[in-house]
Amino acid sequence: MRIGRWAGDTDTGRRRLRNEDAFVCEPPLFAVADGMGGARAGEIAARLTAAALEEVGVETKGEQGVTAMIVEANRRVWERALADPATAGMGTTVTAALVDTDSGTVAIGHVGDSRAYRMRGGSLEQLTTDHSLVAELVSSGVLTPEEAERHPQRSAITRALGTEPTVEVEVLTIDCEPGDLYLLCSDGLPTMLADGAIAATLEAAEGDPAVAAEALVVAANQQGGEDNITVVLFELAEGDAPAAEPARADTPGSDPGSDPTSVEPAQTAPTQEAAEASEVDLRKHGAGPGGRLTAIASIVAVLVIGALALYWGISK
Ligand code: MG
Repeated sequence: MRIGRWAGDTDTGRRRLRNEDAFVCEPPLFAVADGMGGARAGEIAARLTAAALEEVGVETKGEQGVTAMIVEANRRVWERALADPATAGMGTTVTAALVDTDSGTVAIGHVGDSRAYRMRGGSLEQLTTDHSLVAELVSSGVLTPEEAERHPQRSAITRALGTEPTVEVEVLTIDCEPGDLYLLCSDGLPTMLADGAIAATLEAAEGDPAVAAEALVVAANQQGGEDNITVVLFELAEGDAPAAEPARADTPGSDPGSDPTSVEPAQTAPTQEAAEASEVDLRKHGAGPGGRLTAIASIVAVLVIGALALYWGISK
């Protein structure tokens, strides 16, 4: 088994001024984090977490590996909050998936209400259980799932990363099959789109992660876009070839105020979109040498196009 195509996208949504979500697409590691805290603290917490996961995730495997990553992210966010009063109390959710193609499993660790789903054989299954007030009220029979969806406290979480010196990580191992499509998302997606609508969007994208990522963000915004929306998708495929290049890199959200904090490689096609994406990539933390090279290639391509345009303008 191998990791096939993957994609990630993040958007500020229509109500929030800032994007405090972050995501990681560094196969075999994929993750989303949804920060919280005053000022820009939520953004800092999510970014610190994404950077810690990437750093620790390079050589780890399985449930122990994914737990170690999240524990280290917790330590960094907690220590930063102690050292910097402006960020006191900041925290983040995290949902991280570490694929082990040798054993054909995905280890998922999570804290808070960002989710992991799997699409298999046309049906969508939520893999994680939210650490949220409404999820607890549903499991204890106080609320129905429908009531939970409309509950005013539906975004209150009962576990967070970085708000205490230690963190309790929930981990699970999923057996994979070729053709599986995994979706990680911040709560800005499921609060706007019911599972049926998410499944229909994935079906319409015919399993293409890049098409699906963009379509999910568009659909969540069409339903109101009340929160930041972040989605990461990856597929598992037959064979043991090295992971394919992503069909398309993330692009900045459609909202001009959007501020993606991902670490995806940049697109190399010499388009305006690529120029924007590579500019964003250079600002991102922890972009690896590969990402930087492709970003530089994009900039060179754009400069060449600019020179040609200038030449064309002068000769005219
Ligand atoms: Mg959120």
